[in-house]
Amino acid sequence: MTETFKNFIAGDWVAPTTGAYFENRNPADWDDVIGCFPRSGPEDVALAVASAQRGFATWSRTPAPIRGEVLHRVGDLLVQRKEEIARAMTREMGKVLAETRGDVQEGIDTAHYAHTEGRRLFGRTVPSELRNKWAMSFRRPIGAAGLITPFNFPLAIPTWKMFPALLCGNAVLFKPAEDVPLTAHLLVEILLAAGLPPEVVQLVHGEGSVVGRAMVEHPEVPLISFTGSTETGSIIGTTCGRMHKRLSLEMGGKNAMLVMDDADLDLALDGALWGAFGTTGQRCTATSRLIVHERVHDRFVQMVCDRAQRLRLGPGLDDQTEVGPLINEDARTKVERYIGVGRAEGARVLIGGERPPDKRLERGWFYRPTVLGGVRPGMRVEQEEIFGPVLSVIKVGSLDEAIRVNNDVKYGLSSSLYSRDVNAAFRAMTDLDTGITYVNAPTIGAEAHLPFGGVKQTGNGHREGGWEVYDFYSETKVVYVDFSGKLQRAQIDTEV
Ligand code: NAD
Repeated sequence: MTETFKNFIAGDWVAPTTGAYFENRNPADWDDVIGCFPRSGPEDVALAVASAQRGFATWSRTPAPIRGEVLHRVGDLLVQRKEEIARAMTREMGKVLAETRGDVQEGIDTAHYAHTEGRRLFGRTVPSELRNKWAMSFRRPIGAAGLITPFNFPLAIPTWKMFPALLCGNAVLFKPAEDVPLTAHLLVEILLAAGLPPEVVQLVHGEGSVVGRAMVEHPEVPLISFTGSTETGSIIGTTCGRMHKRLSLEMGGKNAMLVMDDADLDLALDGALWGAFGTTGQRCTATSRLIVHERVHDRFVQMVCDRAQRLRLGPGLDDQTEVGPLINEDARTKVERYIGVGRAEGARVLIGGERPPDKRLERGWFYRPTVLGGVRPGMRVEQEEIFGPVLSVIKVGSLDEAIRVNNDVKYGLSSSLYSRDVNAAFRAMTDLDTGITYVNAPTIGAEAHLPFGGVKQTGNGHREGGWEVYDFYSETKVVYVDFSGKLQRAQIDTEV
């Protein structure tokens, strides 16, 4: 019997008002039905918002260190249930167990960081220009925060948003991606088990264009945090601009690894494979372009192809698997379309470029790791996010040219340089137009206590993670206290 899951609204697990559900299936074996989840409607969102406002009224007045204690317990429960959640996540999302364990660990790290932030959440006290007057700032919570998340980090990304939002005293409305509703369900269970007051969190499953949209358009949701594609981000940005909402956008990438002629090629090889084919290329920070110095190009590309074609494809729950399936049929169709585009543009398929012939894998969304050679700057496979196991290789003659090629795309999330030259490293750190640069490490590997985000069309200037995200989830209030007993005018009564 297929299990039927519910939304969490107004302190209870409830069926959607629509009475409609969608199936969640294992991308490695689509005969494996994980469960049925609510296909909610705008009415469910309205009920969730009303409840979140009640939750906000009490939670916003709970002292921040106490809010932090709840998040401490959330972190501890995630530690206890790490393996169970990782397995459930691999089953519904596809990536290998080592990676889903890492995904849960990122949630644990984020919870424990948020816990300690409850005893900081600094404001500032600064001197006033007037005598017998104090000037200071502190942080206030904002309200019901709408959190809309993608499929590729089913636990980590929701926690990047939810934990700082909660620590700052907001209530949260959580709309997870349709492909990973089970992990979202488990996360909300943990929040409740940790003692979060029930109306402080609401979970509404369903389609982005219905539930996500209703959340974004609801006038009582003053803050939206979105991670997903640049196309969806533009739609959300238009509404939030019109309604004057606070909005954080984390969107697409076209990340490059630059390999210079003095690089340690064995080290760069491990980085390229992990960066390009980890999570089947479905990371916002995936290495999608390999920009290689002409003096090492042929040798290095050969090394990459030799190893990449030996990567073992299979279900992520199998210990032997190195690369899992894509998330769904649309994702595989998109990859196949781009291979066709690349061929038509004159790129050469060096390895891959097809579904695996293995009969065992024919009921999953598998695609072979693919390397495209002879890619030139400006080709669509060099410019557009493919979000699959496809690496486009571009040959360059210098570091300057490599930096130019890196920067000449609309995205700017992550970049990486392999070189032993310290001057080259500092040039790259300064000039690569991305929110994150790695030196002698692949384009992926963000840590929870540092700010995360990109420039250009990857984001809109906010950061997740680390200390900066707390600025997004709180509003700065400034207070002046004049104890002089007389009117003092700023900028006027300021004699020495
Ligand atoms: P997506 O844009 O299709 O969906 C993301 C979320 O938005 C889902 O929950 C979806 O239901 C919802 N949504 C869709 N239409 C909506 C609408 N009109 N209004 C409100 N919500 C709507 O993205 P995806 O396929 O789940 O994820 C892949 C994308 O996410 C890639 O582009 C990837 O680069 C990006 N991503 C970025 C980061 C980052 O931090 N920069 C991290 C992970 C993923």
